[in-house]
Order: sequence, then structure tokens, then C-alpha cells
Amino acid sequence: MIALEEAQARVNRDLPVLAPTQVNLADSLGMVLAETVAAAEAIPPFANTAMDGFAIKASDTVGASKTSPVTLPVVGTIAAGSEATTRLSAGEAMRIMTGAPLPPGADAVIMVELTRPAGFDVQLLAQVDVGNHVRPAGDDIQRGAEIMHPGTVLGPGHLGVLASLGRQEVTVYRRPRVGVMSTGDELMEGPEPLKPGQIRDSNRITLLSLLTEAGLQPVDLGLVRDDEDAIETAMRRGAESCDAVLTSGGVSMGDFDFVKAVLTRLGDFTWMQVAIKPAKPLVFGYLDETPIFGLPGNPVSSMVSFELFARPGLRRMMGLLDAERPVVTAVANGGLPRRPDGKTHFQRIILQRDDAGVLVVRSAGGQGSHQLMSMATANALAIVTDGEGVADGGTVEVMYLGSDQSLIAR
Ligand code: AMP
Ligand code: MG
Repeated sequence: MIALEEAQARVNRDLPVLAPTQVNLADSLGMVLAETVAAAEAIPPFANTAMDGFAIKASDTVGASKTSPVTLPVVGTIAAGSEATTRLSAGEAMRIMTGAPLPPGADAVIMVELTRPAGFDVQLLAQVDVGNHVRPAGDDIQRGAEIMHPGTVLGPGHLGVLASLGRQEVTVYRRPRVGVMSTGDELMEGPEPLKPGQIRDSNRITLLSLLTEAGLQPVDLGLVRDDEDAIETAMRRGAESCDAVLTSGGVSMGDFDFVKAVLTRLGDFTWMQVAIKPAKPLVFGYLDETPIFGLPGNPVSSMVSFELFARPGLRRMMGLLDAERPVVTAVANGGLPRRPDGKTHFQRIILQRDDAGVLVVRSAGGQGSHQLMSMATANALAIVTDGEGVADGGTVEVMYLGSDQSLIAR
């Protein structure tokens, strides 16, 4: 057996970051920026009003109050989207709507709530300063400013900023297309009743979903029989059409574990026995440049193996710097017992905050590598190092698998 860190180092050693590419802005959510974005335009592009009200010269409001209003003639109306062409002179007001350009000559806006209509005039009920409710050009983003850098993960706000700058496309690291195939003569899909010895394929949909959740692009490569030729054909097809391939099954010590045999024959592959439970066996290597992860077949093993080896590596391929699941320390309610066996155990647990705000965990149920139900309930994996496990009330490191980051935020 080799240490987990050694196996992870083997996987991560040569994994490439995919070449940058241009994508439509609308397709770039969650992708990693590969360019420095400099603002080609100022945002806002022109000085405009933050309020519905009246454009004025602040000097005209000196001394204005409810009891002694200043009365000005209203010489025009400026709507959002219109061009402010007419100059405002001292002693005049112009009706103006939120987002409309400030007319030349005006230096402040008084909001409508602080005014009173008086025929064709307006009464100003307060004194305001120069710049009141005015959003100057470039108040958000100065023209020419470098506002985003390579490595930024594009969120909805970033897309909004890029759209406001008129960007239609953006240069990002390509999202890996990751193929998933299940191997095993016992596997079937579809609603038909099981024949003797058959089970239904569950790994494929699980792995495809884990890929989607991780921001990667899943590609279904189907079911493959325990047959060397069929496996070779499927591997070659996957390697050709995808940036990486995940397989499950066929990497253990069984007589029909052909995935291991085929891969080690076809390319630069390493078969590893990793000192972890579940997910001890792993095959990893390259078939014509394409990384292939030969994950174990047991449903929980394939998920844990994905978490420890595939997910971080695949996320780094799309340029993500923050590719790892967060690890936090929690208190083990009820303990997490185990037996010494030279391996680190990844136990399915439920992570919560107790009433005092302390992160606590409890077992999510059966820990057999075939017992997928507890994986469905779990939101974290406890990293239980070799030995007798964690006593009730003891602390344990926990890999959080959920998406609600507020649970683990301090
Ligand atoms: P293997 O690694 O091929 O020896 O498979 C280990 C165990 O996982 C066996 O009990 C298989 O039946 C089961 N298994 C393998 N692949 C899948 C799959 N895609 N879905 C559900 N169970 C599987
Ligand atoms: Mg098998």
C-alpha cells in the first residue's frame, strides 16, 4: 500500500491546465478567467442622477427650507435613455429621472420628495451640496482600470460587470469534458426486472452528477462489459472525445478486473493500492495524453475515490486554484470507532452546528463500501486516521462535501 499523499502526487504530477479559449459571456458562469480585463469604457459612462427629482445648481438652494422654499422655473424634463442637450442656467430646474444624464450646467439633484410643485415652477424645500445624488462618470469603474485578473472564478456579478463593459466573449480556461463509463458484466440499466446476478448501474449517474456539481462537463460513455476488447475500444473512444475519462470497476484483484490489465497495457498507467478505506485500488495514467482515472467499482468507493483523486485534479485542469474541498475540525458526537489496519478511513458523517455553534458530527449509518444510502445522507467525510478511531467528544478532521459554505464559515 502507498500513502494517500503519494497517490495524489502521482495523479497531480502531470495533469495539464487546459488551454484558454474564448466563450460567449452567457456560457462563462463558474469558469476561470484566463485574461486581464481592462475596462474599455467607464461605468457609468456619463454623470447621471441616482434619484428622481430636479437637476439644479447647488448654489440656487442656499438657505432653502420647508418654511422658506426657493422657487425655480422648470425648463424641461430628462428621461433615462435621453440625451441631455439643453444647458441648465442658474436659477432654473429640470425634472430628471433616475439614470438620466445630468444636463450640462447642473451640479446637483434634489430628490422629488424635497420639492413641491407650484404650477410651472418647483419649490425646493432643502439646501443641497454640489454633487448631491449625482453619480459621476466612472464612479463604479474608471476607463482603463484593470478590474479582473486571471484566476478569477466568474460569478453572476462578474458577468454583469463584463456585460456592462460591452463584452460579448471572455477568455477562460476550458471546462474539461469528462467521460464516464461503468464496467461490469453484472450491470444493467433501464426499468426491466433484474436477471439473476444482475444489479443496476448506479456509479455512472453518480459520477456524472458529481462532475456537474464540480463545475465540469460530464459526458456519458455508457456501460462496458468485462471484456478486454470492449474495454480497449471504449477507452480509446473516451480518450479521443474527452479531456479526461473516469471508469468504475475492474481495478481490483478479481479474475475479471480487466480495466487494470487493459490500461496498464495501453499506456503510461500506474496501479495503486492506496492506504485508505474505502477506495483502496486506483489506476491512473494517460492514454494518448488523456488522463484516465480507473476508480473502484463499489458505489461508495467510486465516490470517495472521485473526491480524493479526480475532483481536485479535474478542477485544476479548468484553472481553478481553489480546487479542494474544505477541511474543518469537528467534535465527534457518539464517537467514530474503527480498527487499526494501516489505512486512513473516510467515514460518512453528518456535519452540523449544535446549539452552542460548535461543529459536530455523527455517523451517517453503515460504512460498508457498498452501502450507498449513508453516502446519500452524509454531507461530509470524517478523516479517521489509523488506530481505534475517535472517542465520543473527541475531535476529528472533516472533509465537507456540501455546497452551503455558511455551515463551515466561522
Ligand atoms: P469491481 O471493482 O468491478 O470488482 O466491483 C466492485 C463491486 O462494485 C461489485 O460488487 C460490483 O458489482 C459493484 N459495482 C461495480 N460497478 C458498479 C456500478 N456501476 N454500479 C453499482 N455497483 C457497481
Ligand atoms: Mg467488476
